[in-house]
Amino acid sequence: MIQVTKPFLPPFEEYQQYIQDVWSRNWLTNNGPLVNELELKLKRYLGLKHLLFLSNGTIAIQIAIKALDLKGEILTTPFSYVATTSSIVWEQCKPVFVDIDKTTFNIDAEKLEAAITPNTSAILATHVFGNPCAIDKIEAIATKHGLKVIYDAAHSFGVEFNNESVFSFGDISTTSFHATKLFHTIEGGAVFTTDPKILKQMVFLRNFGHNGPENFESVGINAKNSEMHAAMGLCNLNYIEQILNKRKEQYHHYKDLLQGKGLQFQKIEGETNKYNYAYFPMVFENEAQLLKIKNALEMQRISPRRYFYPSLNTLNYIEQQEMPISERISKRILCLPVYHTMSKEVQDLIIRIVIRTLKY
Ligand SMILES: *Cc1c(COP(=O)(O)O)cnc(C)c1O
Repeated sequence: MIQVTKPFLPPFEEYQQYIQDVWSRNWLTNNGPLVNELELKLKRYLGLKHLLFLSNGTIAIQIAIKALDLKGEILTTPFSYVATTSSIVWEQCKPVFVDIDKTTFNIDAEKLEAAITPNTSAILATHVFGNPCAIDKIEAIATKHGLKVIYDAAHSFGVEFNNESVFSFGDISTTSFHATKLFHTIEGGAVFTTDPKILKQMVFLRNFGHNGPENFESVGINAKNSEMHAAMGLCNLNYIEQILNKRKEQYHHYKDLLQGKGLQFQKIEGETNKYNYAYFPMVFENEAQLLKIKNALEMQRISPRRYFYPSLNTLNYIEQQEMPISERISKRILCLPVYHTMSKEVQDLIIRIVIRTLKY
């Protein structure tokens, strides 16, 4: 079975060495030495001042919303993973969708202002498949209207914008280190901010609000991560350049051979900067064609994924809002498998099946 992605695994002995040390220390969680080491190394690798390692990328979004004390309406994208929307609802705010740009698949900054009301408190946008949003435009609108900005950067590890890590933008950026992501810690995530006050707030939120063993600063939750997870991150970080290079190669191989066949590819804003090529999405002319290709691949035990389908404005717990562009793209977009150990032979097989099926 060829899945859309396969988690990267470091050599077992390297992980084992870290775990051996955990055994001798008998310190498993609660801000342990490996968590600290991972945070430090990630800050160094990404060139960032602050980040907090968390238990997953969904709680990262929830903590970001809490830390900024957001209320009322949050402008957001209908084209993302469900956690972007569900986190807003979970935090008792109302998601107000703004349609996407049909070439970048990111929230359309030109449509933001029309959606602002006196109840709007923030913009929560996703850098879709790692592709940076129109950050400058979004920032200008947020400043003009006094709104906070959160970026769901779950796909963006290693991406740069204006020669800086894309994680450094917005009041807070969040990411996921889930096993299916380019860089992972099995389960895991992080929040990023450049504001020490917001950072401090998030430190309390991550750990039950503890400010000392018997003192509680604020309401909090348990969003800590463990030494075992940090160990996986430390191992994987040693291979990140290899992982990024391989992805780039695979992405371009797909694109070179699938170009000119009537498929639409994502316009990548970040390509003049540093991009991570974490996914290979392609948009078909219609849904019937997509289903035909998906079927043909599945017959050969290859599993592509419909990222992202359905469009989030159609979720049953959301007040209905029509988002024609997002709905149209959601129905026609498919991500082909990309993972570190995928061979050229397997990739060529996938390409052949796609091209052959497109002809009928
Ligand atoms: C993966 C993902 C999340 C959730 O991250 P988890 O670590 O799985 O909780 C949120 N947003 C987007 C866009 C994602 O792809």
